[in-house]
Amino acid sequence: MNTGTQWINWSKSFTSKPDQIVYPSTEQELVQLVNDANNHNKKIKVVGSGHSCSLIAATNSGYLIDLKNYNNVIHFDAANKLLTVQGGTSLQKIAEFSLANNLALDNLGTIVEQSISGAISTGTHGSGLKHGALDQAVVAFTVITANGHLKIFDRRIDLTEFNLAVVGLGALGIISSVTLQLVTNYQLKINTTTLSFAEMISKLDAPYNDEYMRFWWAPHTDKVQYWKATKTQHNIQKKSAATDWFNDIFKGNMLHELGLWLTSFRHKSIPLLNKTMYKLLLETETKDKVVNFLDGFTLPILVKQKVMEYGIPIEETEAVLVKINKLFSKNKYKVHMPIEVRFAPKDESALSMAHGTPTCYIGIIAYKPYGKVINFGSYFEDVHHIFAAHQGRPHWAKVTFYSKEQLAGMYPKWNEFNKLKQQLDPKEMFTNDFLKRLFD
Ligand SMILES: Cc1cc2nc3c(=O)[nH]c(=O)nc-3n(C[C@H](O)[C@H](O)[C@H](O)COP(=O)(O)OP(=O)(O)OC[C@H]3O[C@@H](n4cnc5c(N)ncnc54)[C@H](O)[C@@H]3O)c2cc1C
Repeated sequence: MNTGTQWINWSKSFTSKPDQIVYPSTEQELVQLVNDANNHNKKIKVVGSGHSCSLIAATNSGYLIDLKNYNNVIHFDAANKLLTVQGGTSLQKIAEFSLANNLALDNLGTIVEQSISGAISTGTHGSGLKHGALDQAVVAFTVITANGHLKIFDRRIDLTEFNLAVVGLGALGIISSVTLQLVTNYQLKINTTTLSFAEMISKLDAPYNDEYMRFWWAPHTDKVQYWKATKTQHNIQKKSAATDWFNDIFKGNMLHELGLWLTSFRHKSIPLLNKTMYKLLLETETKDKVVNFLDGFTLPILVKQKVMEYGIPIEETEAVLVKINKLFSKNKYKVHMPIEVRFAPKDESALSMAHGTPTCYIGIIAYKPYGKVINFGSYFEDVHHIFAAHQGRPHWAKVTFYSKEQLAGMYPKWNEFNKLKQQLDPKEMFTNDFLKRLFD
């Protein structure tokens, strides 16, 4: 959201006050902006849809480049299922273009409002040990670097350099285009069932067997929704727009937000809210529901929120979940649902949470009903310490409490990434305070 020269991110966790907000629509304009910034010694921060709640997209100087008008398909190679889009293109547009051409993305997270560049720059992911994060679908991308030149990163030409740069934190320049490998269109056959916490722990082999799967755990209820899906070519079942609105918007967002707000005054009633919302939203078993891949992976999420999510080596999953559960059984905190548990295969992207190890992502949440910040004391810090004791790596778009030194020790390619950053951006045109804290 923009007002004059103020730019506020989606969750309203920060406000940027740059010298100027600009909305380029061509690559030439982007190059011109970099040349201007060079001539006037200005900083640049590029933003996508502003869905990161960390300060990764924040700036208080120079140009803030909002890419909402740089949101088009550049080239489509139907024979090889390769789609090249402008850097600001939303995942929604990419998914809809794919569907219209009987193609699909191999995996998706919970929403599709993000820009492709914002998503890959922060390591955005879905869930399933057989299907990687979004950056794994990228074949090549071009970056306008600080000297105003275009640099191509292409996994088919230089895989090592590509892997170093693809989860780039917005530090290397302006991603101008992204080429994605699409796959043959598929439907998702979805099954959901309710487990107890102990049953979830005994089911930690599920990610090895299921094509896509995740758990949604409702603290204080002993209930977990186990969601799994397989690719299928079966026909999509008819949807009712009214039923979807009632379930996803009315119950899932409007009613939940009211409950979140009411319980923010009396944390003791949070378990009752979780119990009620679990019953209303998650308890009904789904049996072989067939939907298109876009509907299957995503949900409308309207309530503002702060999230902390770390990736831990998959073998640490049980130990971490049990420790988090102890925080609740000791009655230390009353917190809202869900705690989301997802999985990804090992990858080679230098700054990915799943670098070098099959990974379990665990995310905790603090909603902001009607904008209200709810004080959960040191809940986030306590969970951070649990993650940290199990080699947890933070999602770049979300909350973390690590120091620079701790982070640097967690990624074997950290120094190589920093070297590439210095080489491409020697005068730190693209470095904001968030990056300064990491790479000073
Ligand atoms: C409701 C909600 C649901 C979410 N669900 C998931 C999920 O399921 N899985 C998951 O992993 N994450 C999830 N996220 C996190 C989200 O995917 C990330 O915050 C992502 O970065 C958002 O993309 P964006 O376009 O909003 O990027 P922004 O927040 O605008 O920017 C993020 C970073 O990307 C950089 N950047 C953006 N565009 C460019 C460009 N063209 N060139 C260079 N750098 C660029 C920015 O400078 C910044 O450093 C969710 C967030 C919210 C709020």
